Amino acid sequence: MDTMRNFNRASVMKLVLESPGIDRSRLAVETGLTNATMTRIVQELLGAGFVTETTDQKVNQGRGRRRTGLEINAKGGYVLGLSILAFNTSVVLADLSGAMIGTVSVEPTDLSDARRTMDEICDAAEKVIIEHGVERDQVLAAGVAIAGYLDVKGGTWLHSPYLRWPPFDVRKSLANRLNLPIVVENVNRCIAVAETRIGCCAGMTDVFLVRAALGLGAATISNGKVLRGHNNTAGQIGHFLEGRVGTMCSCAKPDCITMAASGWAILDQLELRDTAVDRLDLIEDQGSKLLAVLEQAKSDKDVAHIVRRAGAALGHHCVTMLRALDPEQILLTGPLGRSAIYGQAFRENLVRNGISAEIITAHDKSISTPAMAASALSLAESIYSPSFDVQKMLTRKSDNARASEKTVLVL
Ligand SMILES: [Zn+2]
Repeated sequence: MDTMRNFNRASVMKLVLESPGIDRSRLAVETGLTNATMTRIVQELLGAGFVTETTDQKVNQGRGRRRTGLEINAKGGYVLGLSILAFNTSVVLADLSGAMIGTVSVEPTDLSDARRTMDEICDAAEKVIIEHGVERDQVLAAGVAIAGYLDVKGGTWLHSPYLRWPPFDVRKSLANRLNLPIVVENVNRCIAVAETRIGCCAGMTDVFLVRAALGLGAATISNGKVLRGHNNTAGQIGHFLEGRVGTMCSCAKPDCITMAASGWAILDQLELRDTAVDRLDLIEDQGSKLLAVLEQAKSDKDVAHIVRRAGAALGHHCVTMLRALDPEQILLTGPLGRSAIYGQAFRENLVRNGISAEIITAHDKSISTPAMAASALSLAESIYSPSFDVQKMLTRKSDNARASEKTVLVL
């Protein structure tokens, strides 16, 4: 019974988010619930402060009745989005409508120390909440985008190409620190989910995302669901054999796609690649060098040529996968996706190979940052979801009310 109630509440909240101003009778029609049930659910959501009433000034079909609609009370609650990437660790605070309230970039003292890094990220999160004057108990959940993969159950850190952390329960570790429901997901999947829920491909069910930074990664939304694979590691497109023997990759293959199409490849061709890639501080330095090179490519023909060749190599590399997956839209994100030159070469190669899906690059449109995507994931999985415990929130509100009553009595 409770499961059903939670499911119904989640459906109502989602509909109100998607159609601001929707009224109770429309909600009843859309969900197939009775008017009485709808009245009760809406009352609960109003009571918990997650929705508010709006009065539509337009007169209904000339009958002079005002229509009372509903919309999400954006300030009725907040979520955190955390990104833990080799050189992009940050925190976002977002409201119930998904709008960003504040953000802070975190510079971990020692990224190879998992415990310390998580302590620092969580401290930064608490600071953002205080800085923006948000009550701590108004923060309802947190999402985390990581540059790695979790086990099949989705809680334990399995492995990451750069953050060589030991296996540990990352979800529980963060839940203990923040005392919030936590969802953790690979960064590429996180961005793909965020974009299909609220971003540039909202409502689409088949999307292929490739993130091109120093390394390469991908995520697939197929038939509306994240493609996870048997071991929950689907999307690791970075170290396939490319065919042409060239520079040795960090994966110890001399003909790996990473050494033809990624940020490492570009740095390598410009003799800027540091091969001691297992040192995290070097990765940060290499990340900054890559950004500088992409800037230089705008005015330097030779550098532009190298960037273009890498973009074309990625396009070439993706053709077979795209044939197999048949997406409606292809997203190219990450620092290389923001380069017009790299993106153009990627697109041209796909089109030349007969890929007809729409291609959007991070240069064309702004695509969610990892931390923003993590906050969107949290909203989708913990708030606009049957797992959201509205009843608990109602209890919280009445506790608060009782507490303030007591204050009044004492005074
Ligand atoms: Zn490789």
